[in-house]
Amino acid sequence: KKKIAVMTSGGDSQGMNAAVRAVVRAGIFHGCDVFAVYEGYSGLVHGKDLIKKMEWEDVRGWLALGGTLIGTARCAEFRERWGRLAGAKNMITNGIDALVVCGGDGSLTGADLFRAEWPSLVEELVRKGEFTEEEVAPYKHLTIVGLVGSIDNDMSGTDSTIGANSSLERIREMVDYIDATATSHSRAFVVEVMGRHCGWLALNAGIATGADYIFIPERAANPLTWKEELKEVCRRHREKGRRKTTVIVAEGALDSDLRPITSEDVKNVLVDLGLDTRITTLGHVQRGGTAVASDRLLATLQGVEAVKAVLDLTPEDPSPLIGILENKIVRQPLVDAVKLTKSVATAIESKDFDKAISLRNTDFIE
Ligand code: ADP
Repeated sequence: KKKIAVMTSGGDSQGMNAAVRAVVRAGIFHGCDVFAVYEGYSGLVHGKDLIKKMEWEDVRGWLALGGTLIGTARCAEFRERWGRLAGAKNMITNGIDALVVCGGDGSLTGADLFRAEWPSLVEELVRKGEFTEEEVAPYKHLTIVGLVGSIDNDMSGTDSTIGANSSLERIREMVDYIDATATSHSRAFVVEVMGRHCGWLALNAGIATGADYIFIPERAANPLTWKEELKEVCRRHREKGRRKTTVIVAEGALDSDLRPITSEDVKNVLVDLGLDTRITTLGHVQRGGTAVASDRLLATLQGVEAVKAVLDLTPEDPSPLIGILENKIVRQPLVDAVKLTKSVATAIESKDFDKAISLRNTDFIE
């Protein structure tokens, strides 16, 4: 009987509960025992009541609940070999040999490293007398499956991460609210949105709300001309009778010299244009609330696929990341997706912005 553990790790996102629910129920449906690891990798490292066997009814109602009910954390100990050794011990103690991780690229990198190290971790546990050879015999191989939970939509190899569309919807709603008051007072608003180094939320929110201007890291602004261009566009829109000005700034926005473009910088330009300008930093409302239907669906389909992957993978297969490409749920080598994701950061660092855009889900912009 396969024993699968599921955890959420890194930054939370809407839809993580739906993913956990799907793994728990699909696992039980396929005759597996399913465990929830609480508090991300901390739960693996510290074990005990942070690893809990889940029953069908334990996840009842989870589809409609925000955040992640099994907790998430950033765990420094798991970055160290001794932390992962403790994790391996706790997994074997609970009889677990498969792990489904729902998190961002950091969490999935950690998961793949854990798998690569697994045989040597098991060996070390035997050497230290924690288990006998017979006891570890069924645990020679660790199966890892990745689900991407992130509001940023910053993972390559999938068109959409679990939570991105919910976050986008939240931003859309907030910008609509802001637009109403902006129009009343004929004001300008600089709206700062999350996304770390990825402009997907800012770009899509800007299009969905008809913003005047958008700043994202992948399309870095020309340091010499962006202020004039911004003024020109906003002035033109005003001349056409628009009573509000909305500029969306990704938190990681840059100019092409890789200097950050902050909301304050943008505000100063708009003030210079003579506009009564306010900054609204949306902050954590973007991660909050319940998942939109499409994220619940994505999380459910991917959670079911993750269990199927656990059941059909052989030790020779690379750890898969469950993604969605062109509306199909797909598996791809986790390492490749992580590597491609990292190459976006490298492209930005080396000022190859065209490449950065082409590697993102923002490649529909010219
Ligand atoms: P995200 O998964 O959202 O990208 P982080 O990068 O903070 O978030 O990663 C979440 C957790 O995953 C970290 O706190 C750490 O426990 C684990 N992790 C990340 N990178 C590694 C790594 N290279 N090796 C081992 N564990 C890692």
